[in-house]
Amino acid sequence: MARDYYGLLGVSKGASDQEIKRAYRKLARELHPDVNPDEEAQHRFKEISAAYEVLSDPEKRRIVDLGGDPLEGAGAANGFSGFGGLGDVFEAFFGGGTGSRGPVGRVRPGSDSLLRMRLDLAECATGVTKQVTVDTAVLCDICQGKGTHGNSTPVTCDTCGGRGEVQTVQRSLLGQVMTSRPCPTCRGVGEVIPDPCHRCGGDGRVRARRDISVKIPAGVGDGMRVRLAAQGEVGPGGGPAGDLYVEVHEEQHDIFVRDGDDLHCTVSVPMVDAALGTSVTVEGILDGPVEIAVAPGTQPGSVSTLRGHGMPHLRSGTRGDLHAHIEVTVPGKLDARAKELLSEFKTRSHEEAQVKSTHAAAANAGGGLFSRLRETFSGR
Ligand SMILES: [Zn+2]
Ligand SMILES: [Zn+2]
Repeated sequence: MARDYYGLLGVSKGASDQEIKRAYRKLARELHPDVNPDEEAQHRFKEISAAYEVLSDPEKRRIVDLGGDPLEGAGAANGFSGFGGLGDVFEAFFGGGTGSRGPVGRVRPGSDSLLRMRLDLAECATGVTKQVTVDTAVLCDICQGKGTHGNSTPVTCDTCGGRGEVQTVQRSLLGQVMTSRPCPTCRGVGEVIPDPCHRCGGDGRVRARRDISVKIPAGVGDGMRVRLAAQGEVGPGGGPAGDLYVEVHEEQHDIFVRDGDDLHCTVSVPMVDAALGTSVTVEGILDGPVEIAVAPGTQPGSVSTLRGHGMPHLRSGTRGDLHAHIEVTVPGKLDARAKELLSEFKTRSHEEAQVKSTHAAAANAGGGLFSRLRETFSGR
């Protein structure tokens, strides 16, 4: 039974060479043993490498399209050639290339780390400095990254003779094919440490907890990442540390809803105050008490905007606006005297209920933006 090489890469039968290469690269990035040591991933990596080996070769692809399997009986018991296609892997990654790469350095850059930090809206507005403890890899203080014990030194790897890769000869339909793969003894480094450091076992680094002071600038928002250069993990062999990224998670505020640098809040005004005018005080995000004027005759859904009372902009330091959305409340219960007064008012005002088109009413509400905003935020 012929294997579904197209299916393994997730491409269609008519896929172009470019599409095949792209699909393979994408999968190989996830599944490459250097990235993903998981056994299942390694198995899949072999499969997709075999599929790429076949589909990137016009001759082999033709056999597949005719319903055959070019790798059948090609040596490896399971029909796959293991890491035989590694030359192609590097070709796919680096474009061109000879399939030979020589030894990799023992000292390599460390990986970046990501840390999540919850901040409330006020902290996002003022900026904040926080102490965090991270679990990370630091330089081994015994060998200073060398990985060797005492005065011992690394020696050339016997298996690969220092080349960092080993070559295997495989039979295929095209005859004998020479392929190379990283040396299993030295993992491609070309040298081994016979007497490794007792603390780090030769890696040059050890796990440790570090306290780091993280400075978050004013104006950050949900999902933003602050980069702390060289505060990530130290690399193998004491290589330069990666970066630490701190991702901000903004907590929902009791009053304000944030939209970029602007803030929105709702002000509930009793009917009579809306008619006569009043003012309401709100605790600003950076300014202490802020007065919101409600003009006489303010309609429900109208918006009162206070320029420059929103969030600070991350870089410029200028500030967004604060929008107060006016909601008018109608008294639910009236005592006899209140009823009398309102009835008297009614006779004076000559206003009657009337039927209007809904289009006009919707346009009149003016709170369109905010009702959309409210829908967005109440969903979370
Ligand atoms: Zn070796
Ligand atoms: Zn050490």
